[in-house]
Amino acid sequence: MQTLKDRILSHIKTSGPMSVASYMSWCLLDPKQGYYPTRDPLGVAKNGKSDFITAPEISQMFGEVLGLWLINAWRGMGKPKQVQLVEYGPGRGVMMSDMLRTARLDKDFFAAIQVNLIEMSSALEGKQAEVLANAGVPVTWVGSLEEVPAGPTIVIGNEYLDCLPVRQFIMKDRFKGKTGWHERMVDVHPDNPGKFIFSVSEVPISEIDQALLPADIPPVKNGDLLEINPGLGQIVEALRKRFVEHSGAALFIDYGPAETELGDTFQALKKHEKVYPLDEPGHADLTARVDFAALGEWADKAGLASFGPCPQGQFLSRLGIEVRAVNLSKASPENKTKIARQLHRLTDTNDMGTLFKALSIQSADLPAAIGFK
Ligand code: SAH
Repeated sequence: MQTLKDRILSHIKTSGPMSVASYMSWCLLDPKQGYYPTRDPLGVAKNGKSDFITAPEISQMFGEVLGLWLINAWRGMGKPKQVQLVEYGPGRGVMMSDMLRTARLDKDFFAAIQVNLIEMSSALEGKQAEVLANAGVPVTWVGSLEEVPAGPTIVIGNEYLDCLPVRQFIMKDRFKGKTGWHERMVDVHPDNPGKFIFSVSEVPISEIDQALLPADIPPVKNGDLLEINPGLGQIVEALRKRFVEHSGAALFIDYGPAETELGDTFQALKKHEKVYPLDEPGHADLTARVDFAALGEWADKAGLASFGPCPQGQFLSRLGIEVRAVNLSKASPENKTKIARQLHRLTDTNDMGTLFKALSIQSADLPAAIGFK
């Protein structure tokens, strides 16, 4: 059988260079040979099989305090009898399982929950089904937010936005070109037909693409690179459509800057090490930093209320993660050092505390989301 790499190479040879976003889609999402559909990539480095680790996999405290955020969002909606709880990219279902443990603290909330998981990896869907088998609430899988049953909705996603395909634009011949931004492409190496290289499109980006650029781009010079994540606008549009009909609150946590930044952040991780993103398509996790300013801007333009971005460390502190750590340590003193190490990892500035951010998007008429000030 042809490998994914062979298929991408021959596609480029017949159809010409592809955008970084198309390359990312092929690598991550190809149903038969893509990265996510073919494996469970999550876990600690020492198990030797995983490629990366995420906050819920580091500690149960992460999902548990997010469960408090959910309770609060539901109360802000007026405690509806039924609420659709939607998770984008649930990984191994660990965060949902931890959040539901906290959700049980409010019996009425717990009784109202219907879980909807948006997951494109059948490998991970299997894990989620196992982990959530005894969740105590109905759990279903849907293809998109549009498929979620009507009614008040709470949406959550951790490290989901960072794996959505990004486009990269390079400022080229600013004073000669029509618009200045040219799309960065993936091409086949002219002297080595088995190797990918980056190239830059000769023609500037279209006017439609210009409209995707965020408002506050820092001063740009020749050669600068700007990343655009078209998925952010699409997700906000799906939220807008839903939240005009039904009360809704969404929370996204991911890694990225609070302000739009220039620079190439497209990266590949394999076995917890960075590798070159154009080597081994389909065998490494591909991500890029999330532009939280752009996400907030899409939400504001859609007439929704946005809160944040707030650094993850501060956000989790406001939700009481330190208190949770103390209580867990009391309950199992033998794990005290481990719990302290996990807390540090999730909240410390030199670890995930500052690089990671939380941002909430809600129906405009709901009370302010908690954790943001
Ligand atoms: N939220 C989890 C997993 C993060 S990894 C955690 O924090 O541990 C990214 C997740 O998003 C995986 O579950 C992956 O399969 C899923 N995913 C990636 N691209 C997707 C897409 N386009 N549609 C739906 N799910 C996607």
